[in-house]
Amino acid sequence: NPPQLQGPVAAAATPRSGPFLQRASGLPNSLFAHDGQITKQQVRALTLSALAPRMGERLWDIGAGSGSISVEWCLSGGTAAAIEPRADRIPNIRTNAQAFGLAHLLTVHHGAAPEALAVLPAPDAVFVGGGGSDRLFEVLFQTLAPGTRLVANGVTLETEARLAALYAAHGGDLTRIELASAEPLGSLHGWKPARPIVQWSVTL
Ligand code: SAH
Repeated sequence: NPPQLQGPVAAAATPRSGPFLQRASGLPNSLFAHDGQITKQQVRALTLSALAPRMGERLWDIGAGSGSISVEWCLSGGTAAAIEPRADRIPNIRTNAQAFGLAHLLTVHHGAAPEALAVLPAPDAVFVGGGGSDRLFEVLFQTLAPGTRLVANGVTLETEARLAALYAAHGGDLTRIELASAEPLGSLHGWKPARPIVQWSVTL
């Protein structure tokens, strides 16, 4: 069950007397309705940094999951198309768009890439958070205009190999994001590493 959201925009009207919405990307995971499949707070902040939203720009969020990337893109002044094939995740995306007051900026597309992309207006930036097959990247390279920014995150070895090959062929930046959080270890504490995320970022 998605957590009941207290409107973050309403909360923002009472600074210093409760939780309020920060301006920087990388909002707490708990502000989003999600089922565990969500780009985590710190990785999301780095992903938005790579996507580099400007006012009025359009994002394709491929493999939108909870829609958290689309939400943070729209909070930075853009519009987003969230593409997600799993029917059970669509309500979470809609809930999040509404809770953040972004339903007029964030459109939800139930379908799989690359097929679902055909009807969408051209983007300024594309995020691949899922569905990053060889065929998807072929289609993106064929259809996206020069100057479009493309960012892809991968957590599996197979996706990592694909992103490394794309980096070798097209350049850009290939980054590995390795995070660890302190957790109880017996009566003391130790580092609990998260799975590394490989991020490829390129301007076409
Ligand atoms: N960035 C998301 C999490 C992405 S998880 C968030 O912050 O919530 C990856 C998602 O990609 C999953 O929800 C999965 O259903 C979706 N996916 C898998 N194959 C896809 C495809 N071919 N096209 C679009 N999305 C796909």
